Amino acid sequence: MVTNNIEEYKGVYVFAQQVDNEISGIALELLGKGKELAAKLETEVTAVLIGYNVKNLADKLAEYGADKVILVDDPELETYRTEPYAHALASVIEKYKPEIVLVGATAIGRDLGPTVSARVKTGLTADCTVLEIGDFPLNAIPGQEQKHNQLLMTRPAFGGNTIATIACPDNRPQMATVRPGVMQKIAPIAGAKAVIEEYNPGFTPNNKYVTIKEVVKAVSDTVDIMDAKILVSGGRGVGSAENFKILDDLAEVLGGTVSCSRAVVDNGWKPKDLQVGQTGKTVRPQIYFAIGISGAIQHVAGMEESDLIVAINKDETAPIFDVADYGIVGDLNKVVPALTEQLKAAKA
Ligand code: FAD
Repeated sequence: MVTNNIEEYKGVYVFAQQVDNEISGIALELLGKGKELAAKLETEVTAVLIGYNVKNLADKLAEYGADKVILVDDPELETYRTEPYAHALASVIEKYKPEIVLVGATAIGRDLGPTVSARVKTGLTADCTVLEIGDFPLNAIPGQEQKHNQLLMTRPAFGGNTIATIACPDNRPQMATVRPGVMQKIAPIAGAKAVIEEYNPGFTPNNKYVTIKEVVKAVSDTVDIMDAKILVSGGRGVGSAENFKILDDLAEVLGGTVSCSRAVVDNGWKPKDLQVGQTGKTVRPQIYFAIGISGAIQHVAGMEESDLIVAINKDETAPIFDVADYGIVGDLNKVVPALTEQLKAAKA
């Protein structure tokens, strides 16, 4: 059922998530994707910047592709809370009528996106891995109108066993959340400036405004695996938490970081923030070592975009070899230390 006049809705909008006055990487990734979608639709990409005293961030958004920045700046928006942020973004959508709204699938975005989509009475596809402009239905079906220039939102479905392409042809905006690390930022355009439009819909605290008593920040001394250039990733085949020492040694000689499969997290050998895959993080390093990892679809979904994949597995039929650029069939307890020694010798 068509519930709003979809012709009125124009432009690609990106929720420019910031925390503590710092733009989150996902916002820049979405601007890159938004620019590509906007070019196909012959329209502009607009960043929606919500916070308190955050106007200084607009230039960075312009450098990463925003043609326009809508700034909602208010003391009520200093720290993320569902109600004032949802009010801010929903009000922007109601006033400016964008055709597409993209939100990062971060802890904040997973809360904000669905709240806003319900409020503006449209659909949202969560955790998209591919976004394209195209026809819907994908192939013409006799007796059914095929709509053009639709946002085609692709995501894994049924536990990653299939890939679904979803559209929102009868309502606007078309909303999607996208996981960090999937889309590519553009190379920043130094000195680019966006048109800044300030808009404040008014904030009246009500009983849905939670009170923040204290913000406790987790301190981690490990590198975020999404930023690592070299990942040495271990799976169940590593055998124990202690045996990850051989991966630590390889990572150290390469200047890399250790990550892992879900089986490793489930076994309590490594923390969840090192997990690669559909329910972990999406990574795109220059080199990804998959060691004792079978290559289940849910794991591959998080690492297949790596520039170079090296798999070490004793089972030559393991599916990880289907996505690997280099494969070593053998016992990781022999192969990995030998590789580390060779690399050490080459460096000496
Ligand atoms: P296994 O599949 O047990 O593979 C171990 C491999 O090690 C085998 O291939 C074996 O041949 C090899 N091996 C064993 N010993 C040695 C040795 N000595 N030398 C060399 N090789 C050896 N998984 C993820 O990783 N990330 C996710 O985000 C994720 N999300 C999921 C979401 C859903 C909804 C579901 C249903 C599953 C998800 N999974 C995820 C789980 C996934 O399906 C697999 O179960 C998991 O990836 C398997 O981990 P693994 O490859 O480490 O273990």
